[in-house]
Amino acid sequence: MAPHASIPGDDTDLRRALQEVNLPSLLLVLASLTDSDEWLNDHFQPAPIEAPEGSLFPDDSGRFTDKVQNEIREAAVRIIGEVRDGKRAIPAAPDQARLQRMLSFSVAEEVNEGYAAMLMEETGFRNRDAQWQDTLQSVDPDFQVLIIGAGMSGLGIAAKLKAAGINFTIIEKNDQVGGTWYENTYPDCGVDTPNHYYSYSFNRNPNWSGYFSKRDELHAYFDACADQFDVRDHVRFNTEVTEARYDETNHVWRVEVSGPDGTATLTGNALVSAVGQLNRPALPDIEGLEHFAGEMWHSARWRDDVDIKGKGVAVIGTGCSCVQLLPRTAAVAERAVVFQRSPHWVAPARDYYRPVEDGQLWALNHIPFYAAFHRARMILTFGDRSWPAVVADPEWDQPSLSMNEVNHGMREALTGFIKDGLGEKTHYVEKCVPEFPVWGKRLIVDNGWYETLARDNVDLITDAITKIVPEGVVTADGTLHEVDILILATGFQSNNFLWPIAIQGKDGAVLSEVWGESANAYKGISVPGFPNLFCLYGPNTNIVHGGSIIYQVECQIHYVMQAISALINRSIAAIDVKREVNAAYNERVQSISRTLAWGHPGVESWYKNSEGRVVNNSPFSLQEYWSVTHELSLEDYEQFTRASA
Ligand code: NAP
Repeated sequence: MAPHASIPGDDTDLRRALQEVNLPSLLLVLASLTDSDEWLNDHFQPAPIEAPEGSLFPDDSGRFTDKVQNEIREAAVRIIGEVRDGKRAIPAAPDQARLQRMLSFSVAEEVNEGYAAMLMEETGFRNRDAQWQDTLQSVDPDFQVLIIGAGMSGLGIAAKLKAAGINFTIIEKNDQVGGTWYENTYPDCGVDTPNHYYSYSFNRNPNWSGYFSKRDELHAYFDACADQFDVRDHVRFNTEVTEARYDETNHVWRVEVSGPDGTATLTGNALVSAVGQLNRPALPDIEGLEHFAGEMWHSARWRDDVDIKGKGVAVIGTGCSCVQLLPRTAAVAERAVVFQRSPHWVAPARDYYRPVEDGQLWALNHIPFYAAFHRARMILTFGDRSWPAVVADPEWDQPSLSMNEVNHGMREALTGFIKDGLGEKTHYVEKCVPEFPVWGKRLIVDNGWYETLARDNVDLITDAITKIVPEGVVTADGTLHEVDILILATGFQSNNFLWPIAIQGKDGAVLSEVWGESANAYKGISVPGFPNLFCLYGPNTNIVHGGSIIYQVECQIHYVMQAISALINRSIAAIDVKREVNAAYNERVQSISRTLAWGHPGVESWYKNSEGRVVNNSPFSLQEYWSVTHELSLEDYEQFTRASA
């Protein structure tokens, strides 16, 4: 047997690397490499996963005694060394039943069958694409897919289309790929979903420098993906879609684009919207905004050319963007004035900045199975764990602030966190404790928020803003807060899906009119009357309770690829989701949403429209949405055959 080329170094290197690895994951590697369950016995049982009170990030070390740690590492040196030296063959990846057993042992709680099925795909142990690849026997050279947006969703589906040899074009308004990670460049911009999970399952990056990467590293990842997927040449950059019309006679979409070469009409058999939910900045409707004399910008349009140092800076809005950008802004500004309309819950971020140690990187890159198990454990330790705090008790009294005991416990813990962080500024405590359940709005991962509010040069203003004047911001108590710079961290036009593109479906129906403020789609993907239009990250698909939006989008890509494959191979010209099917699905979505933290009547957020209907968030757990989208049923759609075209 030949030595295993991908495991470099000798036993000393291996021993050194193994000092830093996650031992419960390593146990699963040993069980896989030896194809034996001897590693899954009481002696090696990892301790249950526990997060410090109020924290989202659990201790997943297994908390083994030193003696057991040593035993696991020494066994790993021997077994991985044997693989490296060609003395041990790598067995086949675990099947689903075994994976379920292994993961249940590793996280010290029962992992159910549905979760195991989903994790077989997330780990790559089962090829998710086989489901549509099997249908797609031959590719129609005339079939064309048009994709709007080259961000995370657009690149993701492009990867699949490219691999399948299906023609496609991506229309991208920016001059680069990466979407939100290209556009947002504010200080400390980053992700708060662990990166080993916030990445494509089919293009893992074992080299993340930390658990939660900053914007530059994320953008570099997506940029590299464009090359690795070999899709960059398919992108029409600096080009906007202005209008899309469904041609009922020919069952195609005619898409008007405007770019460097003027305007053009592109034709596609399918149209995929990959524009995201947080794409168009929302500017606040405040009197006099345009009269501000200093520099003013939105958080998603950061101005690197303006030096904040020594200036008086006002920030309007206290969502995730503000919480991330304020500490570094306040550290250099002469004074920062933060205008808060309502407070958000902010959770402590254990190990937020902890770099991934060399040993971890080594293991992720070189030890067979390690990266897959690492991802699976990250999903299990992070995703869906907040669900008990999110779902109301059946006897939930709607006006209650806490929904259930778990949520109440979090509320208490987070209030303690607020008090600790604010220190001597105790008069801010009341301003900072929200009057809605935890998870009612996006639970923000801390970036030193309360410590920053506690700084001498930072003021938190909760009086309503009445107007903006050239010198600054005027509040209801008549105070003029004079500043040089005004930063609008006021979020995005999240309820206006696909805005401002004019989309016309069958019978002249205009999507923005059909939806009004209540965008809805079947599984978040298909809209009745708009055949062969597929939304990625569409209505009610946002995930906020501990999941990765890339995970959600991959579920949708899988569904859309089944649809595209059916269109190509079954002589179906178009599919249009049945109205009653969509209506029943969305009734279910809304009835569940009303029992979830973000459906709470006492909270307004970007998840809801002005009537209080949740239009952005998914009401499902990760595993539930995976099963909702896993199989396309053509029965749910009206079908138009090519013959009838
Ligand atoms: P956001 O959560 O919508 O927050 C906007 C803020 O502006 C809120 O505090 C809002 O107050 C306030 N606001 C809006 N209009 C206002 C007005 N007219 N007057 C006064 N205040 C006003 O926006 P965001 O912070 O940009 O975040 C949006 C989403 O992007 C997040 O929820 C998250 O999903 C994503 N994001 C994620 C990360 C991350 O992963 N770390 C970082 C940044 C953004 P109210 O609360 O009272 O409405």
